[in-house]
Amino acid sequence: AELTRPAVQRRRPALSYELFPARSDTSFDRLRETIAQLEATAPDYVSVTSRAGQQNFGRVLDVVDHLLAETSLRPLVHLTSIGTTREELSLVVRALLDRGVRGILALRGDQPEGHSLDDDEIPFARPLVELIRQVERERTALLAAGRVSVGVAAYPHRHPESATAQHDLEVLVAKERAGADFAITQVFFDPEVYAQLVRRARSAGIQMPIIPGVMPATDPARLVRLAELSGVPAPRDLLHALEIARDDSERRRIGVRFTVDLVRRSLDAGAPGLHLFTFNRHADALDVLEALDLGGWAVSA
Ligand code: FAD
Repeated sequence: AELTRPAVQRRRPALSYELFPARSDTSFDRLRETIAQLEATAPDYVSVTSRAGQQNFGRVLDVVDHLLAETSLRPLVHLTSIGTTREELSLVVRALLDRGVRGILALRGDQPEGHSLDDDEIPFARPLVELIRQVERERTALLAAGRVSVGVAAYPHRHPESATAQHDLEVLVAKERAGADFAITQVFFDPEVYAQLVRRARSAGIQMPIIPGVMPATDPARLVRLAELSGVPAPRDLLHALEIARDDSERRRIGVRFTVDLVRRSLDAGAPGLHLFTFNRHADALDVLEALDLGGWAVSA
């Protein structure tokens, strides 16, 4: 439960980082260093992405085990339903809970081109939330270890497969009813778009915290790739400024300034926290935090 309402319990907004699992032993060493740097800012949790189909799940568990055994950080494990059977997903959820994981981000995952659903596949995030709650109930022995926090995705811009923003909202309502405790948003670059999502969610009766997902906007190539993946384009002015910047340090200055402004205005609009998509690079994330200077977030040099 702490994971879900941190803003109420602490004076500072909730803080979390998103990491992806290492692809090799060398990059795992670099990831450990990134985690150590981020740990110094005492985040509320660290999320670990996973790929639909679970092929890389061993690598996900490596990061989770490292976080649990060697750091003070709490993992939030992303779990996607597409490409796996209900039975496999139940086993994964059991294994995560048995390991000590108390936070899961329930996602559908992106559908591969031409994907046709199997009968025993979970087609949406909502039934995955239900499955996680069901496994949690079955593991009553775990209750002493604390309730599981379940998060879901929310979309300030329409999800690419949704016909209307209203449909997205209905899906979010259903995910909360199914047992979600909080939502993390897809990227956005205009705080008003985030504020509008929160306003519409509240008038639809959604009560859970909706945490803005923000990427440090320092790398124009990454912003372009992200636009392709998520369907959310970066502002042209920002992209142009980053592209014509003299060098990396000017690019970082421009990107960090933009990101800090976005976070400040989202917090002003009532955001209960900040979820930073780090792309496994701590330097930009730490620059953003330092410049935000909200107090209570200790940033080491
Ligand atoms: P859903 O909530 O199930 O929605 C998917 C689509 O189906 C939407 O268009 C929705 O409107 C529609 N829909 C839902 N329910 C119904 C229904 N009953 N009837 C008809 N239509 C319906 N992907 C990964 O592979 N790995 C990750 O680690 C990962 N992390 C992410 C983290 C965040 C914070 C976010 C925002 C996204 C992440 N994603 C990740 C991407 C995500 O998997 C995709 O955006 C995916 O396309 C949708 O996932 P969802 O959980 O929002 O799906």
